[in-house]
Amino acid sequence: MSTRGGVFIVGGGLAAARTAEQLRRSEYTGPVTIVSDEDHLPYDRPPLSKEVLRAETDDVTLKPAEFYDENNITLLLGNGARSVDTANQKLTLADGTELSYDELIIATGLVPKRIPSFPDLKGIHVLRNFDESIALRQEAGSARRAVVVGAGFIGCEVAASLRGLGVDVVLVEPQPSPLASVLGGQIGDLVARLHRAEGVDVRCGVGVSEVGGTDRVQKVTLDDGTELDADLVVVGIGSHPATEWLADSGLEIDNGIVCDDHGRASAPHVWAIGDVASWRHTLGHQVRVEHWSNVADQARVLVPAMLGQDTPSTVSVPYFWSDQYDVKIQCLGEPEADDVVHVVEDDGRKFLAYYERDGVVAGVVGGGMPGKVMKARSKIAAGAPIADVLG
Ligand SMILES: Cc1cc2nc3c(=O)[nH]c(=O)nc-3n(C[C@H](O)[C@H](O)[C@H](O)COP(=O)(O)OP(=O)(O)OC[C@H]3O[C@@H](n4cnc5c(N)ncnc54)[C@H](O)[C@@H]3O)c2cc1C
Repeated sequence: MSTRGGVFIVGGGLAAARTAEQLRRSEYTGPVTIVSDEDHLPYDRPPLSKEVLRAETDDVTLKPAEFYDENNITLLLGNGARSVDTANQKLTLADGTELSYDELIIATGLVPKRIPSFPDLKGIHVLRNFDESIALRQEAGSARRAVVVGAGFIGCEVAASLRGLGVDVVLVEPQPSPLASVLGGQIGDLVARLHRAEGVDVRCGVGVSEVGGTDRVQKVTLDDGTELDADLVVVGIGSHPATEWLADSGLEIDNGIVCDDHGRASAPHVWAIGDVASWRHTLGHQVRVEHWSNVADQARVLVPAMLGQDTPSTVSVPYFWSDQYDVKIQCLGEPEADDVVHVVEDDGRKFLAYYERDGVVAGVVGGGMPGKVMKARSKIAAGAPIADVLG
């Protein structure tokens, strides 16, 4: 039994690193400990489906080891949290170590969904962590044909990166277009066009019914009976919050750890941040965001709230991006699939669209239009009438 006290951050990704950094920036001088189930230093995930997969880099570390030494941040790696006793403020790790916390910040991210009916064959991958990206890259080196199941952001990026490695790709999506549930059908169709132009066989409105092979995957059968040869399958059908280890904690969990608008969870001295956290929106509903820039925004709110300091009063405009081929797709604001979409520019590859809800500009989505996307920030923040941007 060991006790340490101070702030414990469970999770070894972006949210853990940013929170630890913010604690020191906010002049918290007590002990800070990061507990991660991974052996790596906290690292960045966006390159995993892009530069790492395309073998352009292996360096995704967010901060070098010296940063943690210099800032007196203890890293407990390769020993994840198994449970938490919120009444007694105790954390138990996978190896049975018990730790006492003054404040606990949960930053455990997501677990990729798998398809339980798929057999256990070589060549079937998911992509959430560094080791999975390297494993996929190694097999992609000798693969001829990949089937990517799911055309969300990660599926689309993987399809693009595999094309870059010279692999034939079939992208299978049960919805009518890629990204349809996030950005709606109009933008989804433009994204499908982009992939088709790069030689991806995009098949929408159809799912996968079966995967076959002996030792390794050889065949994928679609719902419509089509049989596809494949020596690589990547399942990109989304993820769920990594909260299984909290099953007996008594914490309120509903599509993530339910928090107030400062990241405070339902038990005293427990907080949550990043992909695993469902924060209360200023309009009163709960929102769980799975995007990179949200993490730093939340750290800037959570840490001062935890330390009893003033929290920022400005609300940042949500932002995320996705790199597919040479096109950076950027989303600013809160575009939703059922908004009215105004495509104002389209040159056959690049595009710009404003999203209208209740007469105001709710968001902007651009493909290869960085300046124009960012220019809409103040209008979105102000809830400007849609006519202001369509002008
Ligand atoms: C392949 C990929 C590409 C992406 N590309 C983009 C992009 O282009 N643009 C964008 O905006 N966003 C992108 N994202 C999303 C972005 O990376 C995430 O929003 C961000 O990583 C969230 O950080 P996090 O710390 O909350 O979660 P994570 O980065 O997932 O970190 C969670 C950490 O907690 C660890 N953990 C889990 N359970 C336990 C436990 N019980 N005990 C201890 N540790 C535990 C995990 O192993 C992991 O290290 C991408 C994500 C992925 C996976």
